[in-house]
Amino acid sequence: MIYKGYEAVIGLEVHCELSTASKIFCSCSTAYGGEANSHTCPVCTGMPGALPTLNRKVVEYAITAGLALNCTVNKSSGHDRKNYFYPDLPKGYQISQYDIPLLYDGHLNITDEDGQLLNIGIERIHIEEDAGKLIHRDGETLIDFNRAGVPLIEIVSRPCMHTAEEVKSYLRKLRTILVSTGVSDCKMNEGSMRADINVSVREVGDTSFTTRTEIKNLNSINHAGRAVEYEFKRQVDTILAGGEIVRETRRYDENSGKTFSMRSKEGQRDYRFFADPDLPRLTVSDELICSLAATLPELPDAKIARYCSEYSLSQDDAELIAESPAASEYYNTAVTLTQNKKTLTNLFIGEILPKLGENEPIVSPSHLAEITDLLSAGEINNGTAKLLISRCTAEDGMSPAEIVTRDNLGMIRDKEKIRELLDTAVKELPKAVSDYKNGKKAAIKSIIGRAMAISKGRADPVILNDEAEKIL
Ligand code: ADP
Ligand code: MG
Ligand code: ZN
Repeated sequence: MIYKGYEAVIGLEVHCELSTASKIFCSCSTAYGGEANSHTCPVCTGMPGALPTLNRKVVEYAITAGLALNCTVNKSSGHDRKNYFYPDLPKGYQISQYDIPLLYDGHLNITDEDGQLLNIGIERIHIEEDAGKLIHRDGETLIDFNRAGVPLIEIVSRPCMHTAEEVKSYLRKLRTILVSTGVSDCKMNEGSMRADINVSVREVGDTSFTTRTEIKNLNSINHAGRAVEYEFKRQVDTILAGGEIVRETRRYDENSGKTFSMRSKEGQRDYRFFADPDLPRLTVSDELICSLAATLPELPDAKIARYCSEYSLSQDDAELIAESPAASEYYNTAVTLTQNKKTLTNLFIGEILPKLGENEPIVSPSHLAEITDLLSAGEINNGTAKLLISRCTAEDGMSPAEIVTRDNLGMIRDKEKIRELLDTAVKELPKAVSDYKNGKKAAIKSIIGRAMAISKGRADPVILNDEAEKIL
């Protein structure tokens, strides 16, 4: 991403809501939705004198996320008050971590457009509380405090990304890792994962850091990519026109694809950070760290490497499957149930993967493996395999082999039968026959296609081809 001799420098601050059942400093529910202000108590609505008690699960989830992102755990960290006035923050401050975060110095890997491995540094991860939600309606503003006190982790990357594609890959990888460790559902459309994007520009070859702007609260990966592209060009054009980039917070407007200035950026001093006197220091034992490390699932990079080496998948296919925890869970089960791994992978990527997100019933992994084996043994052809994938779903209980017998779907390999099919096709398509005889060799395809259709997709494609050539 180079524009008029400039490159972008990008660093992300990503907020993720942790999937704990209760809030960070009280026992109210974190459930999304629900009647406004029904998940509240004196603590999360900031009543005077109410005292916070740290939720142990928040610490465990944050450490799990940090370990999955190769961070070091600070065995002693604190809680700090970030003071600012805003109606969705009734205490007048947010409890966060300032100088000493719970986790620091991690990284994750992405592959860039040229297939090159890039290591994206993570400066720190800290825990903090979410604010309430303002709802603007009919000229009035309403406040829902159900979200106030929902636990967040903020993941701060180093300013080491340079393109919109890298930003999108980083967000996708982050989401995969967090979802697969079970610490967050990372639903960007529900706000449980949101990204602030810091962008600056510099001339290609320059290694210094320049003034940056911050685009707030991106709620989709595609919007993040478009916001980066727009903001990058806007800054370059501003500089080339003799203007100056000012440190400010901007908002991305999804309708116009542009960013707009919201306010000049608060400096750290504006927030008057100080240690929260209501909470003790947060100390973490080695035992806790070790026991959490032991519960980590197989992480995406390990999965991708294993898919490539054990099942001979291409890097792209492996990444595609490993990206979705639901997909890799299904695939992991199915692929161990057959020897024909390549065929299973193809069926999985073509037929199963696109349907996995859709809340529709889907063929079981063991039935998919059986269909794969029928296909590999030549009992059925590709079209029938696809048909079985949908039939097994609709009529669960029956095995693929039983459906083949009941519905007479077995492959037709008998040459006599295949010739009969071709004879019919030839009679129906005299034009294709004469085209073929006049040298248009491609015309054979429509005859084969018709014969296949008459067989309802059951003819053996190899024999059908051979016989068609002989007959013609
Ligand atoms: P703040 O607390 O003001 O938000 P931080 O030092 O925490 O500032 O940095 C916030 C984010 O800004 C980090 O993700 C970091 O990578 C990014 N960042 C810092 N400097 C630059 C820069 N020159 N250009 C782009 N991003 C930057
Ligand atoms: Mg920040
Ligand atoms: Zn509460």
